Amino acid sequence: MKKAEDFSEWYNDIVEKANLTDKRYPVKGMNVWTPYGWKIMRAIDTNIREEFDATSHDEVCFPLLIPEDQFAKEKEHIKGFDTEVFWVTHAGLTPLDVRLLLRPTSETAMYPIFSLWVRSHADLPLKTYQIVNTFRYETKQTRAFIRVREIHFFESHTCHADFEDAERQVREDYEILERLAKRWCIPYKLLKRTDWDKFPGAAYTVGIDTVLPNGRTLQLGSIHQYMDNFSKPYEIKYEGEDGQHRYAHQTTFGMSERLVGAIVAIHGDDKGLVLPPEVATMQAVVIPVLAKGATEAVSQAARELAEEIRQAGIRTHLDERDLRPGAKYYDWELKGVPLRVELGIRDMEKGVVTLVRRDTGEKSLAHRKDAAGAVKDMLDKIAADLLTNAGSIMDASIVTVDSLDDLPDKFIRAGWCGTEECGHRIEDRTERNIIGTPVEGEGFKGMCVVCGKPTTTPVYIARAM
Ligand SMILES: [Zn+2]
Repeated sequence: MKKAEDFSEWYNDIVEKANLTDKRYPVKGMNVWTPYGWKIMRAIDTNIREEFDATSHDEVCFPLLIPEDQFAKEKEHIKGFDTEVFWVTHAGLTPLDVRLLLRPTSETAMYPIFSLWVRSHADLPLKTYQIVNTFRYETKQTRAFIRVREIHFFESHTCHADFEDAERQVREDYEILERLAKRWCIPYKLLKRTDWDKFPGAAYTVGIDTVLPNGRTLQLGSIHQYMDNFSKPYEIKYEGEDGQHRYAHQTTFGMSERLVGAIVAIHGDDKGLVLPPEVATMQAVVIPVLAKGATEAVSQAARELAEEIRQAGIRTHLDERDLRPGAKYYDWELKGVPLRVELGIRDMEKGVVTLVRRDTGEKSLAHRKDAAGAVKDMLDKIAADLLTNAGSIMDASIVTVDSLDDLPDKFIRAGWCGTEECGHRIEDRTERNIIGTPVEGEGFKGMCVVCGKPTTTPVYIARAM
C-alpha cells in the first residue's frame, strides 16, 4: 500500500501489519493494545510523567464512575458531553437510585474532591495529573488511535489563586509540550479555538494540531483556561492571606493515544513504521550477517557488539533468528526500528560495522571500536532529521489565501475579522472547519476573507481527520 496514493488505507494497513493493534475485539473503537503497541504508548506515558513530575505536578488516580448529579453541575460542560457518555444504570439487577456515567473526562470526578483539598492560599497552586481510560461514544467511523471510544487519556488539572497564576500555568504547559513534541519528533501548531468550538465550560481552549499527509489536521490535545467557570459550581474556594474567600482559577491539559497515531502517520512510509528513537521499544537492532565457515565467529562477535551498545544505554535487540538477513531487514523496517547495525565477516576483517538508517535507508560505516558511540550519535541525528523534515512538510502544507474559491486540500490560512458571523460564513462556504487562530503572533496583515475588513489575525481552516 502506498502512503502517497491512499493515506487512509495505508494507515489502517500499517497499524495492523506492524502489530500495533488487534482489530478483532467485538466493540468498535475499543483498542486491544498488543505488546508492541503498548510499549510505544508506555514510552510516551513515561515521557509525560517525567515532564510533569519535573514541573511539580503530582500524579493522582480518580474513579472511573461519576454520579449523574455531580456531572450535571456545570451546565455548559454537561451540554457538551451528554450525547457522548456511557451510562451505568444497574447494579446487578437493581436499578441505581443515581445513575453513574463512565468519565468522558475527569473534571466532574475531581472537582468535588478538590473543593475539600483546597481550603487556604497555602494549598495553591494545586497541580495534578492522571493517565486513565476515558469513554466517549464516537458516532463517526472509528480508526485505530485516532477516533476511538475508549480513550487512553492523559489529563492534568490545576487550581490557582487567580487568573494570572492560571495563565502562568498555561504558558508552562506550552513549554512542557514543546519539550515533549521534540522528543517525539512531532511538529504542531497552537491554535486558539473559536468561541463556538471551545471545550464545554472553558473560558478559552488552545488546540494542539498537526497536519497529516492527506492535508487533514489531527488534534493531538488541548490546553484549557477555565477561569472560575468550574470552581463556582463545584465550590473550589480558598481563604486568602487577607481572610477573604475566593474561587480558584483552573486549567487543564489533555492528550491521548492520538500521539501514537500521529507518529505512525507523520513518519511512516511504504515499508512500515518509522519510530522516533525516544519512543522506539528497540532503538537499534544488531543483525549478524552469517557466512559459511565463519558462523560461530560472526555470531559471537555480534553478541559482544549488541551487549556493548546495550551497555551504552541504548535499547538494543540482537536478531539471531535462523532467517536470511533480507527477511530480518523486512521485519525490522516494518516495525520501524530506527537503526540497523549489520556485522558480517568482511566488516570484522576491516574492523567496522555497517549502520543503516530506517528513515532514509542510508548506509554508513563506523569503527568497531567506537560502535556504541556511533550508534548513539546516529540516533540523535535521526531524531533531529525526523523533526526537521516533518516540520518542513507541515510548513509546506500551509497555504495562505485571500479568497475562498478553489481551495486546495491543504491547511488553509486566511484573514478573519474575528466576528462569529464571518467565521460561520467561512465554515459554510469552505465546508471545512475553522481550527483556530495562532497563539503566537504571525505578523499577519491582510483582510477578512469574507467582509474585507483589514485584520492582523489569520485563521486556520481545514478538514479534521
Ligand atoms: Zn469579516
